[in-house]
Amino acid sequence: MEAVGPEVSLVRPGDRVTGDCSLFCGACDLCADDRNLCQHIEKYGNHRGRGVAPVFPAGRALHLPASPDADLDLVALAEPLAVGAHAAARVAAMRLDLPREKVLVLGGGTIGLSCFFALVDITAAATSSCTTSRRPARPGRWPWAPRR
Ligand SMILES: [Zn+2]
Repeated sequence: MEAVGPEVSLVRPGDRVTGDCSLFCGACDLCADDRNLCQHIEKYGNHRGRGVAPVFPAGRALHLPASPDADLDLVALAEPLAVGAHAAARVAAMRLDLPREKVLVLGGGTIGLSCFFALVDITAAATSSCTTSRRPARPGRWPWAPRR
């Protein structure tokens, strides 16, 4: 953390932090069920701010302190690993036979692999992961990229 505003008390400059890159409205029907389904969701780095910049302003959602001696490489993975754990927990709640099922995760990116590792712990059968895209990433052409 480089600096904090006057109303911030959970973290201080110099703290190692992680958190959620999502901003939820908290008011729509889908937020009541699962904030990740929010009709008005915005993401730092996609809709707001410059998430790939070394320093950027962040809202309260990103202010989750990590241990002072935490490995920053692992801290950086906290959010995507939480996404996989959340997805696996939701699937497990819907499919009671999941421990005996085979699961195929489509997508070999950060979130796909996060889901893969979370599901490996839940499923007794083999879980596979693959990527479906052969095109190179072109961030400026993604539909959720910031408008210029
Ligand atoms: Zn919402």
